[in-house]
Amino acid sequence: MKDRLERVQKRIRQTARACNRPETDIRLVAVSKTMPVEIVKEAIESGMTDFGENYIQEAREKITTLSTYPVTWHYIGHLQSNKAKYAVRMFDLIHSVDSLKLAKELDKCAQKIDKVQDILIQVNVAKEDSKSGVYVEDTSRLLKDISQLANIAVKGLMTMPPYFNAPEKVRPFFAALRQLRNQIKNENIPKISMEELSMGMTGDFEAAIEEGATMVRVGTAIFGERH
Ligand SMILES: *Cc1c(COP(=O)(O)O)cnc(C)c1O
Repeated sequence: MKDRLERVQKRIRQTARACNRPETDIRLVAVSKTMPVEIVKEAIESGMTDFGENYIQEAREKITTLSTYPVTWHYIGHLQSNKAKYAVRMFDLIHSVDSLKLAKELDKCAQKIDKVQDILIQVNVAKEDSKSGVYVEDTSRLLKDISQLANIAVKGLMTMPPYFNAPEKVRPFFAALRQLRNQIKNENIPKISMEELSMGMTGDFEAAIEEGATMVRVGTAIFGERH
């Protein structure tokens, strides 16, 4: 695991350099779904600080067991409103908000525990039926509505493009997310920050970095195949 992690870190460093971006602008989120807590601990001891999880129940055990470590936990899976309460208690950043209904529920739960919940808006750039996410043309409207919620802080956008593991095919979708981010930035919606672009996984994180990713979500390349 440590060797694989170092190889991923090196590839991030080299890609950042090649496109003249400071490597500190790119945060590696280690996607630890299905990985046991011992493996996550090993990754922490190898210097990893950011972990992504997809399932509330599975994450709860890891987050509880590892609570003494300085870890930033990212929720990257699809989130149902009835799980909002748990997500707000457990996660520093929720990448997958795609509706006002979910944002309102998160706001309500965050208010109860006196927290401002950081979120990203998941965008379904390719309009795939199988994927969650708001459509590009509906994103600005959604952000204006969410900007009214006192206990939600939007930090940027996230996407899951089609065509896994074919970097040149997914590049246009990464570029589209960056363009949407720039467009929304220009709208200057109050309280909405657009600094973060969460995009890129094992098969395509280099292309994502070249297109402006500030967070790459990498599982397999760090932990090996999931079973
Ligand atoms: C599983 C998952 C990843 C990581 O995928 P790999 O191909 O293993 O790197 C990234 N993002 C999301 C939303 C995921 O569900």
